[in-house]
Amino acid sequence: MHKFYTAALFFLLAFPSLAQQTLLHCGSLIDGVQNQPLSQVTVVVNGNRIVRVARGYTAPGTGDKVIDLKNKTVMPGLMDMHVHLEGETSKGGAINRFTQNPADLALEAAKHARTTLMAGFTTVRDLGGTGANIALRNAISKGYVPGPRVFTSGKTIATTGGHGDPTNGYRRDLMGDPGPEQGVVNGPDDCRKAVRQRYKDGVDLIKITATGGVLSLAKDGSGPQFTEEELRALVQAAKDYGFTVAAHAHGAEGMKRAVRAGVTSIEHGTYMDDETIALCKKNGTYYVPTILAGRTVADSAKVAGYYAPVVVPKALAVGPQIQGTFAKAYKAGVKIAFGTDSGVSVHGKNALEFGFMVEAGMPPMEAIRSATVVAAELVGMRDQLGSVEGGKLADLVAVNGNPLQDIGLLRNVTFVMKDGVVYKSE
Ligand SMILES: [Zn+2]
Repeated sequence: MHKFYTAALFFLLAFPSLAQQTLLHCGSLIDGVQNQPLSQVTVVVNGNRIVRVARGYTAPGTGDKVIDLKNKTVMPGLMDMHVHLEGETSKGGAINRFTQNPADLALEAAKHARTTLMAGFTTVRDLGGTGANIALRNAISKGYVPGPRVFTSGKTIATTGGHGDPTNGYRRDLMGDPGPEQGVVNGPDDCRKAVRQRYKDGVDLIKITATGGVLSLAKDGSGPQFTEEELRALVQAAKDYGFTVAAHAHGAEGMKRAVRAGVTSIEHGTYMDDETIALCKKNGTYYVPTILAGRTVADSAKVAGYYAPVVVPKALAVGPQIQGTFAKAYKAGVKIAFGTDSGVSVHGKNALEFGFMVEAGMPPMEAIRSATVVAAELVGMRDQLGSVEGGKLADLVAVNGNPLQDIGLLRNVTFVMKDGVVYKSE
């Protein structure tokens, strides 16, 4: 038997073309590396890996499968650096946390994961939920349910009463006093404990709410909510466990504290001032704008009864600012990674963000790079994801036509391959 396997292995190594492969004939390929698309190329996939990219349309060998994408533009799988798969916006939806059981949340999350993948997003960062997002990540990677690769933060870390305190707005006797395990911290020791708890829970990264936020049932949407001492303890503990830290922030003071403490990315960044921009550039901090979330909350706030009264003025003030902030930060040269905060908007519309980015002055190729190579860097997977090159994981999507001429085409992804498996082919 052993001899047989050795012989078979030799055979496969000596004649790799005899191994069964999938050949994707691509009319146009944006590979994520070069500034211009390549025309008429073949992407060779074996198992879950890209073997190579060849010029022209390679003829199939025996047993090879050909996928005809000659009328399409093929790209690396898209990556959204800020989603919440456990839920989705709805009128009066704040009540859901009193009516849904953990199993309801988990099954709903599976639905949103599938929708996200079918929209062409093969990788996401899930930046906060109850922890069902950890089970979801595991179920997807085991192949139980279809969905994107998930990098999850589990439950967000906040301070008492802050954005992400899960008992904000509760009746006094229901509030209790949640602690680090529930993601509520006060003081550096709590910060370290909350990070260690998340390590134990099995998260991939840490998410904190450095300032107030729009949708929490609390008055302030932008003031700082951590001390710098707390942030430094938290970031240091995160580094000990190999975690990056994503910091939700609207106001400039909370943002500056977070950037100085060494967080990896600023989420939303609404009132980012010139000093914060300079700090982000100096520290190499990524900015994940979520313009779509800003637009969505500002629109929904105009619908009577959609949000609780305490949320409405925050949504109207913060929402319309983000696109302008993005334009300023992009021009200044801050590293921009694509993110939408989907869940705050409906899932599967993630690609609307590309249109807002281009509208604000980013060239289409750079917008695509923010959702591929740059995002891959942010999740520490640049050697595996974000470009179409030999050796990378086979995450590929395609659209009809040329998205460099019409970025809106990305809203209609017609082909999705993740890990070498085709999930959509139209
Ligand atoms: Zn969010």
